[in-house]
Amino acid sequence: MEWVFDGGRPCLDLVNTVRERHEDGRELLTDPAALAEWLRLMGFAVTEASAGELSAARVLREAVDKVLLGEPRSADVLLVNEMASDAPSPWLRYEDGKPVKELRPVSVVAALGALAADTIDLVTEDIAVRICAADDCGLRFCDASPRRSRQWCSMARCGNRAKARAHYARTRKRD
Ligand SMILES: [Zn+2]
Repeated sequence: MEWVFDGGRPCLDLVNTVRERHEDGRELLTDPAALAEWLRLMGFAVTEASAGELSAARVLREAVDKVLLGEPRSADVLLVNEMASDAPSPWLRYEDGKPVKELRPVSVVAALGALAADTIDLVTEDIAVRICAADDCGLRFCDASPRRSRQWCSMARCGNRAKARAHYARTRKRD
């Protein structure tokens, strides 16, 4: 699977489970098993997902995208609010004497709730959400850099390609 986990926030990683949004979009949450796998990789202790939970995840994902890009309909806001109410309560435990915040127990509904709650946190924080500057990418990321100057979803994926293209264009002009 071509998962990408560098949106900088869980809710953005959810949005990025559709790749190539600049075009028609390519779905990565193709079936319930894919959703369960993605949630596990996100750190949620989920064993399996149902078809209903898969459609809930997809609907939430599109509402999250609208909210984060600043163009939500009232239905999107309502959905995010309703699903956030299923977010699990934090659970404090100690690992080698250090406090660790854990979210458990985690059903798919609760995991989606946590992602909806993260959306509310992110949109109300002073963090910019951007779309990658590469015109063939479409991935979303959050920009908490001091000057809000981050351009690429990741340097490795898009930043270096853009640099190489600019370099190629410069050297060609010289010839
Ligand atoms: Zn990119």
